[in-house]
Formats: sequence, C-alpha cells, structure tokens
Amino acid sequence: MGRPVKAAVQRGFGGVEVLTYEEVDDPVCGRGDVVIRVEATGLNRLDVLQRVGPPLLPGFSLPHVAGMDVAGTVVELGSDVRDGADGVELGVGSRVLVNPAIECGVCERCRAGDDGLCDGVRVVGATRPGGYAERCGVPADHVYTLPSHVGFEEASTIPTNYSTAWHALVTVGAIAPGEWLLVHGAASGVTVAAIQLAKQAGAHVVVTGRSEEKLELARRLGADAAFLSDADDLAARCRNLTGGRGVDVALDHLGPALWEQTIHALRPRGRLLFVGTTTGVRAEFDLPYAYHFGISLIGVDPYRAAEFTAMLGVYFASRFVPVVDSRFSLVDVGSAQTRMESGGAVGKILLVP
Ligand SMILES: [Zn+2]
Repeated sequence: MGRPVKAAVQRGFGGVEVLTYEEVDDPVCGRGDVVIRVEATGLNRLDVLQRVGPPLLPGFSLPHVAGMDVAGTVVELGSDVRDGADGVELGVGSRVLVNPAIECGVCERCRAGDDGLCDGVRVVGATRPGGYAERCGVPADHVYTLPSHVGFEEASTIPTNYSTAWHALVTVGAIAPGEWLLVHGAASGVTVAAIQLAKQAGAHVVVTGRSEEKLELARRLGADAAFLSDADDLAARCRNLTGGRGVDVALDHLGPALWEQTIHALRPRGRLLFVGTTTGVRAEFDLPYAYHFGISLIGVDPYRAAEFTAMLGVYFASRFVPVVDSRFSLVDVGSAQTRMESGGAVGKILLVP
C-alpha cells in the first residue's frame, strides 16, 4: 500500500505523446476489492478513441489509465473477500481475468437484473483505472479464476471482444444453427470472437477483411467464406453463397464504411446488429429498401454481468483459438497504440509488463 507502481497515464487528448510512463500510487484495496499484478492487458479501439478525444464514455476523466482487458495475479485481498464472480475461492497468487463493466448494483436497472444499462456503470480501463499499469484494483466480484490451460496472454484477449460478440450474436441476435452470419473486419478482436462463437452455435460465417492475410486467419478460425471488403459486389457475393437469398444476420462493428452494402447483403427480414464506430458515427442508406424488405436494424447495447459468466463458461470449455498480433512493454504503449491505428494488426495487441 502506498508504494509507487508504474503506469502509462493519459494526461491530455491528442497523439500518443499524451501517454506518459510514470509512477502512480499503488491501488487502494477496498474491503471488497482485490489488487491484481497485471500480467497482460489487451488493447481496444476505445483506448485510442478516448486518447484522441472527445471521450466516449460518461464518467471519463483525466488523468486516465486505460486498459479494459486485464489478466493477472491477485496480490492483495480486501477483508471481506472470499470468492470471485465464479464462486471460486480467491487468495494471493490466484490467476484471474476481469469483467471490466462494474455495475452500481443499486439503481433500478441493476435491481431488475438489467445491469448492462446501469445508470452508474464504471468501466475498468475506460472510466476507472485499468490495465495499462503494473497493478490494478477491482471489485473481487468481477474477477474470474483462469483454468490451468488458459494463460495470461490468452486471458487478456477474452473479456471485451468475447462479451461484445456473445451479447450481439447470442442475446441480441439470437443466431440459430444453419443461419448465415456476415461479419466485417476479419482480423479484429470482435470478429475473431464472432467467428468462433457463431461456428460454435452451428451457424455459417462469411467474413470480409482488408488483406489476404486477414482473410486467411478468418478461414483458419472456421469461416466458411472470406473475401476482400473493397469488393464492390459484397451483396452479390453473399447472395451467391446463400442460394440467392442473402445472409440472415450481419454484425457490423465498423460504422458507416460498409453499412449500406451490408443491408443489401441481408435476406428479406434479415437482422443487422450494429455496434462500434471505427469508421465514423453517421451512416447513410436507402430507407425504402430497408423497410420494403423488413430489415431489422438492431443496436447492440452493453452486455450484462450474467452474460459475461455464461460466455466465459463456453469459452473455457471450447478451447477457442486466441489470436495475438503483438506484445509491447508498458513503456512502449505509444508504439502499441500506433500499431492499432495502423489497421495492420492481425488479432489482439497486448501490453505485457
Ligand atoms: Zn446500476
């Protein structure tokens, strides 16, 4: 307690130079908290968006320590802590990962079990200190013990990507065996998760991406078809794959780039699940086409804590393939974010101490 630890701290908005490697106070371990020695943290697009500004999540403040996907070793436990979120007893040395969405537990939505839309949610690495640090303090009821076959680096690829893909496909999209899913961004973390979860659910998957290398990864993960996203006949290709019908479900986490083509790739009464703004925040499309064919445009809201538990159970039992693009040390955080901004990454970019 009180001992300085190193962290990559965001001190302003702008380029990577606003991230500084410096000493910060050791996280204070509250009665219900654990302090984790961070062994690996996965980067997310949100880290970059909030660095550039303006911040996207309410409650963001400077200075900020980003890093939502945290895996590490418990080094300190609050006096009230016995078990983690999974009911497994915690102790010094426990190997864990973190569900970063910390719901308030007391608002109307939380009391109704609808905590994904909690009014007072705080997100580790987005609106409270995260894993761009040697140590991170979190509520013990948001940590999960890792099975022996899952290492820290793999664990840090799981939380945000798999919970987002799970919520989109399973809860919101209700994807069914035999359905065709279209998903963009072949090598992105959410897409890596979506391919594997959709195949696990018995669906067929078609993926678009920006390079042959990324398409090859998608095929290796089980995608039934993959093609370059700059193909101007995206909708026609999807129809060819599906006997002329169009795909049943699309997951678009890019924003406007392929929005309208995606709508045209859907079958009549198909569902477009959308989340994420990588290419912008406004989309244009032909309204008559969308209503005439009864297209459902479905926003993907935040996941609930219970879904995180369910997702993790499936992940740990399924032996999914983790995809790590690169590893950077904390002091090299600027290079890590530059790698993300380059769009060249194939899989998850990690910070490892
Ligand atoms: Zn709440």
